[in-house]
This record gives sequence, C-alpha cells and structure tokens, in this order.
Amino acid sequence: MTQETGGFAAFNLNPNILAAVIATGYEEPSAIQQQSIPIIMAGKDMIGQAQTGTGKTAAFALPILHCIDPAKREPQALILAPTRELALQVATAFETYAKQMPGVTVVAVYGGAPMGPQLKAIRNGAQIVVATPGRLCDHLRRDEKVLSTVNHLVLDEADEMLKLGFMDDLEVIFKALPPTRQTVLFSATLPQSIRAIAERHLRDPEHVKIQTKTQTVTAIEQAHLLVHADQKTSAVLSLLEVEDFDALIMFVRTKQATLDLASALEAKGYKAAALNGDIAQNQRERVIDSLKDGRLDIVVATDVAARGLDVPRITHVFNVDMPYDPESYVHRIGRTGRAGREGRALLLVTPRERRMLQVIERVTGQKVAEVRLPDAQAVLDARIKKLTNSLSPLVADAESTHGDLLDRLTADIGCTPRALAAALLRKATNGQALTLAAIEKERPLVPNNAPRGDRPERTGDRPDRGDRERRAPVPLAEGRARCRTALGARDGIAAKNLLGAILNEGGLAREAIGRIQVRDSFSLVELPEDGLEKLLAKLKDTRVAGKQLKLRRYRED
Ligand code: AMP
Repeated sequence: MTQETGGFAAFNLNPNILAAVIATGYEEPSAIQQQSIPIIMAGKDMIGQAQTGTGKTAAFALPILHCIDPAKREPQALILAPTRELALQVATAFETYAKQMPGVTVVAVYGGAPMGPQLKAIRNGAQIVVATPGRLCDHLRRDEKVLSTVNHLVLDEADEMLKLGFMDDLEVIFKALPPTRQTVLFSATLPQSIRAIAERHLRDPEHVKIQTKTQTVTAIEQAHLLVHADQKTSAVLSLLEVEDFDALIMFVRTKQATLDLASALEAKGYKAAALNGDIAQNQRERVIDSLKDGRLDIVVATDVAARGLDVPRITHVFNVDMPYDPESYVHRIGRTGRAGREGRALLLVTPRERRMLQVIERVTGQKVAEVRLPDAQAVLDARIKKLTNSLSPLVADAESTHGDLLDRLTADIGCTPRALAAALLRKATNGQALTLAAIEKERPLVPNNAPRGDRPERTGDRPDRGDRERRAPVPLAEGRARCRTALGARDGIAAKNLLGAILNEGGLAREAIGRIQVRDSFSLVELPEDGLEKLLAKLKDTRVAGKQLKLRRYRED
C-alpha cells in the first residue's frame, strides 16, 4: 500500500473499492469520512452532521458499497437526495467508486425522465438506487414491493428534503422498507423535525459531527469569490492578473487537479509546479527549494503534499477547492503571513459550498469578505502596471546602449521613433491584449456569475449590468409562457438548479421546459402555457438554494 493512501487502507474496505479511491486521486480521508466509514461499515445507524464540501458522499458511498453483495441482483441500498441534480451527482460518485466492482450497478431515479426505464433498471438488478423521494413514491405506487430487499438507507441532505416538502413521501418510503435495515442520515443542520425523524426511524444511532474548535487567524487578509466549479481555472487566471504576489500556494483536492491546474498556469507563462502525494521525496524537496529561491512562483498542492511546507516568500494562498473542515482551512492559510509578514488568502466557493463558508466564518470568528472577479479595466490596469514596472528600470541607460540603433532602424525602416517603439512593444508583449476591447473579448467568464450586487473590493463596478438586465427577451415558442423568479446568479443559482427543482416538484417532462435564462438578480423560465396556473400553484413552496422560488408569470410590456 502506498504511504499516502494509508488513511484509506486502514478502513479495510473491499480492495476493489480502495483501488478505485486511489485511482480517483484521493490522498487521505476527510474528517467526516474518517469518523463515518467505520460506523457505517459496522452496519450501525448513524446521524452525520456535515454539509457539501466535507466529502460526505464518499463517507457513506464507500462503506455502503463495501456492505453490498454484488452477486445478488436486487436493490440493496437506497440513497434519497432532495434534488435530481444531487441524485445524479451521488449516483455518479457511486459509479466512480464501484468502477472496479464487476456486477455492481447504480440507478438514478428522479422526476422528469420516463418511469419505465428506471423501474426496469431496478428490476434488472441494480444494487444501488439513488432517488428523489417524489419520484420514488410514484414507483412505489406502481410496485409496492420494489424496495423490499433494501437493507441500507441513506438520507442525504435530510434538512433540504424536508424544506422541499418531502416529509410525507419519506414516511411512505420508510414504510416500504424492511424494518431491519440500516439507516444513515446526513444533514447540514439538525432542526427538531430532523431529530423527530431520527427518533422514529433510526435505531440507537451514533452521532458524527466534525468538531469545530474556535481557531485564530492573524495577519491574513481573507476573501472569497463565488464561482461555478467549471470556471475555477479561468477565475484563478483572472485573479492572478490583479493580485500582487510574490510566491503563492494553491490548494486543490486531488492529484489530477494539481497536475491540471499547474499545467494551465504554466501555459499562461507562470512558473508553476504540482505537488502531490505521488511525487517522490527528492523531487518534492526540489520543488520547495525552487519556490524558496524564486525559480518557481506557484505551487499547486494537495493538503497531504503541502504538509510541513514553510516558505517565507509565500504571500498568497488560493483555496481553489474547499478544505474539508475549518481546521484545515486555518492550516492552509497559515502558509502565508509567515515571519510577521502580511498574507492574503482567497477561497473559491461554489454555490453549493456556501454553507461551508459560513462554518469557516463561525469557527474563525471572522468574516471572509466577498470579492468579485476583476473586470476588464482592472486587468488592463494591472497589465500596464507590470509593463511599466518591467520597462522603467531600463530607460535610465537604454538610450546610451541602444539609442544609436534606434536612430538607424528608424532611418532604415523610414518610420517615426513612436512607430518603432510601438512595434517593439507589440513584440515585447507577445500579442497580449492591452486594450479594454481586446481584454473583454478574451475573457472567458461571464461577469454576471459574480455574486450579489455589493461593491467589488478592488475594482470598479461595470456599468453594463443594468443594460444586461434590460436586454430584450428572445421570442417565445408557441404554447409556452415565460415565468420569472427573483432568484438569480447572485443567489448562487445556475440553470440546472432551476431545472432540477421544477422537474422534481412540478412533475414535468424535461421537454416541457423551454429556455432558462439566469441573470444576476432574476431568472426567466419558459413553461407550458397549458396548465400553467396549476403548475405555479404546485411550485408555490418550492425552494432552490435554500430560497423560495416564487415563480410568477412574466409579462413583457
Ligand atoms: P461532497 O462533500 O461529498 O460533495 O464532496 C466534495 C468533493 O470532494 C467531491 O468532488 C469529492 O470528489 C471530493 N472528495 C471527497 N473525499 C475526498 C478525499 N478524501 N480526498 C479528495 N477529494 C475528496
């Protein structure tokens, strides 16, 4: 067993599962995994208090996979999730960890897709069923025995399920399961309603909660940026343009991510390297030495690989992937601000990880200020400043060394010194965009993915937001009505969240939903005109990202 997987190896999981975990690139179990895996493997009931970002999915998926019998072609584990999106995510996680377990199949059961193939997959022997409660109840109405062989039940994000109004459905599902089953409940919060469920349906459960001791963080300026997971690399590249750093460490979760991000940075001309548990000790020392003496400026590391790394040059820590717990956050950002210097720590937060941010703020007792991505003007200013800084030391004596050459070239080419200087600049800047228009064109990020309308910290606000919001809507297809919600990108909403919620709660087919446009402070969704009022009534209490959807017909006049 390699050294860095010792943590996972110690669980004595089925070797095929361990092999898949290693292949996924995880180096060590997160705190919630460390505590939950042995309990769930032992078949006990459990209440886990953990939010997205703590590694909770693997905390139940790995031991559940360990407990099932691949030779039995019948449902053995049922995972309930509040939304279609989460159900798909959990199902994908199970598939990843079961990659090397021949015969294990996973089925995702959610509204909006035809029921026939889902039921067929269950009957064909899928051992793992990941479902949203509403759709699962529809299946139970067709076949009440469909869950009779399930002996492991996981309620994922139980508090969200209750918020979405799934209480009655949960009761129906509990009744359809064998009373001897194991029940595991994960929830970010434990309100009375959740405790009541635990009381009724769990047997002598163990409680697992990541202990959050208060931590102190000094001399480090902290900020966070809300970003969608697939835009992290572009966000990092944008931030680097305006951050004035000496050396920087970026934290990610997997070995693969260290490699991918380090090569994206190198491709942009940064002196960057990856540091992960696969890297041999002597190579690791070389990387650290290079960071110390300036041959490298950026190291992209996993927590394990960065252990003990102490480089006084580090001015910045970027938490590109969320740490699993506040202690680890404090530990990571402690890499900067060494030797009494000031440090700066930036945390990228995906919409689903906002709760984790709140936990960090609570535990550290500090607000982690929100920043927005730099706008084109800020990027331009930063680029020009760098250019100025690189040229100004040369002007003092360049004329004495190269002045005559300049005269000769202007004469030979027959141009003005200004034209020649401009040509030299173009060459020296290697095609880099140095006008507002050119920068706007090259920027891959939609500015309105930046959250909330509050003032950006370091850059001027873009005046075009209002225009963007007033932009004329595209024409509607026949038979569709446009509806509006006051939830938008600044609430951490993406189109897929709206789609998931409407499919789940509205019981519509995917094709029934037209375009979804997410703007900064609102979103538009095209829904079938036929039966619209009924549908809106059905969606009356629906919540997305913890907020009421309040979908209304939108009249464009
Ligand atoms: P979750 O909290 O379950 O939503 O997981 C958050 C992310 O962490 C997912 O992308 C997982 O793939 C990743 N993850 C979970 N456990 C580990 C681990 N032990 N090491 C590295 N990444 C992990």
